[in-house]
Formats: sequence, structure tokens, C-alpha cells
Amino acid sequence: MEQTIFHKILSREVPAAVMYEDDEVLAFKDIHPKAPTHLLFIPKRFAASIAELTPDTEDLPGMLILKAKAFAASKGIIGYKLTFHVGKEGGQEVPYLHLHFLAQKEI
Ligand code: AMP
Repeated sequence: MEQTIFHKILSREVPAAVMYEDDEVLAFKDIHPKAPTHLLFIPKRFAASIAELTPDTEDLPGMLILKAKAFAASKGIIGYKLTFHVGKEGGQEVPYLHLHFLAQKEI
């Protein structure tokens, strides 16, 4: 399987501004932010996209959402947008499941 840029960020082969990490996720700043705070939450367990979830990976979107919720609460961010792009036609450029987290509050 081809390594995506997010695999390389996870392995620290490519640098990123990491804002949160635990056993299950890494969250880092989007390199082309579309809001004052624009992070990407990726699971450490690989899935390519929502469309390609299997029984082994179908827990990942909910897990990412709960991590983003907890992160927001920890930073006092009370309003934000959460988005998954699904497939090329859905605007997904990087074939590694990721949750966009956008907030007007800058952290
Ligand atoms: P998507 O269109 O949902 O696949 O989103 C991919 C996102 O990854 C885009 O918003 C890009 O700006 C972002 N991105 C691509 N390369 C990097 C990188 N090296 N570090 C941080 N964000 C990146």
C-alpha cells in the first residue's frame, strides 16, 4: 500500500504542527488553514476513507469525533465545524481517513 503524506506525518518522517496525540489519534494543523483554527484528526489505525470502512475500522469516525469534542472542551472552544471529505468527488485529496476541525477561536 502506498504511504500517504499522513502516514509520513504519523511516523514523523514529515514534520507537522502537532496539537494533540494519544494512543489512538494524532491531531495537527492543516497546512492550508480555512479558519483561524484548522486541525486534522487522524486515527493511528489506517482507513482510507469513510467509503472504505470495514467492520474492523467502522469505529474510527465516531472515535475521531469524540476526540475532537474532548479537544475542543479542553481548549474552551464552544463552537466548531467537523467535516469528513469522502472520495475524490467529495473533495478528499489525501486517501487517509481524517476529520477536519475548524473553529473561529484561534488557539
Ligand atoms: P482533504 O481534502 O479532506 O483530503 O484534506 C486534506 C487536507 O490536508 C487539506 O486541507 C490540506 O491542506 C492538508 N494537508 C496536505 N498536506 C499537509 C501537510 N503536509 N501538513 C498539514 N496538512 C496538510
